[in-house]
Amino acid sequence: AKNDGRNNYRYYSPEMNTHMLERIQLEQRLRQAVIRQEFCLHYQPIVNLDDRKITGVEALIRWQDPKFGMISPDKFIPIAEETGLIEPIGEWVLQQALTDLAHWHRLGFKISMAINVSGRQLLGHNKTSFKCLLKALLQKNNIEPQYLHIEITESMLMDDTEQCMAALESIRSLGLDIYIDDFGTGYSSLSYLKRFPIAVIKIDKSFIDNMLERESDAKLIKAIVMMGQSLELKLVAEGIETHAQWQMLQALGCDFGQGYLFSHPLPAQELESYLHQQALS
Ligand code: C2E
Ligand code: CA
Ligand code: CA
Ligand code: CA
Repeated sequence: AKNDGRNNYRYYSPEMNTHMLERIQLEQRLRQAVIRQEFCLHYQPIVNLDDRKITGVEALIRWQDPKFGMISPDKFIPIAEETGLIEPIGEWVLQQALTDLAHWHRLGFKISMAINVSGRQLLGHNKTSFKCLLKALLQKNNIEPQYLHIEITESMLMDDTEQCMAALESIRSLGLDIYIDDFGTGYSSLSYLKRFPIAVIKIDKSFIDNMLERESDAKLIKAIVMMGQSLELKLVAEGIETHAQWQMLQALGCDFGQGYLFSHPLPAQELESYLHQQALS
């Protein structure tokens, strides 16, 4: 261990140093990426499980670093949240997604758009700003609010219940639906489903993965679907990769699905081709 004389680097280890260095570098590059606009959005179709027809898309951010290539959102979104960079990034996401959606609506494809929003965005410094941004962008792009969905995670609801409730209510008042993402992974009380203005539950991929092999997972999905139905919530299953999973989810009464079986997330241009193709079939 190293000591600078003031006991500062007491637990110094080479691994820790490497990790911290990577973390700091990533943060610096992320700051530049915001300025240089090195992001793009991919769109993954959400389909009706009865007929595989697309009803909407989920916007998923991609960071194309000129030196390091594509960096996964799982890697940089947590840093963006910690540093507050999520606010400018989130604003860019909204702007880009609604511009693309408006374009598809003009072409006659009346699909919906689901956007991932993190707690820091929703409850940012200025509580009204996110709502104002949403409202302004919907107006500017001439999009009816029911076509925009906001995805939040369960864990967000636990952080600051009062504030969160107010923020969600105010978004809901614009006419947008709120989705609970990664449902079943948050270990939170289910009572929030009744208290918060939630319209849709997205069943986490981890349950779908093993539903055919593990009876307990299938039973859990069945219970989630039944609960959703009794609360009049719609259900989306995430991460559907096989025909058998699709068939079983449909039989269980799940409404919508998303996954590689139907489509990977696609760049805007390819999503547009997908829409044209579906319209012909
Ligand atoms: P998520 O919201 O749960 O998004 C679903 C993730 O599952 C996406 O990963 C998607 O590409 C992947 N996926 C979809 N279908 C399948 C499948 O059939 N098999 C497998 N193996 N994977 C599938 P992605 O795009 O890497 O995004 C990871 C996470 O990053 C997202 O998880 C979300 O939490 C976060 N994220 C992405 N874009 C944004 C954004 O604009 N804002 C915020 N705050 N978070 C974002
Ligand atoms: Ca999501
Ligand atoms: Ca998810
Ligand atoms: Ca549904």
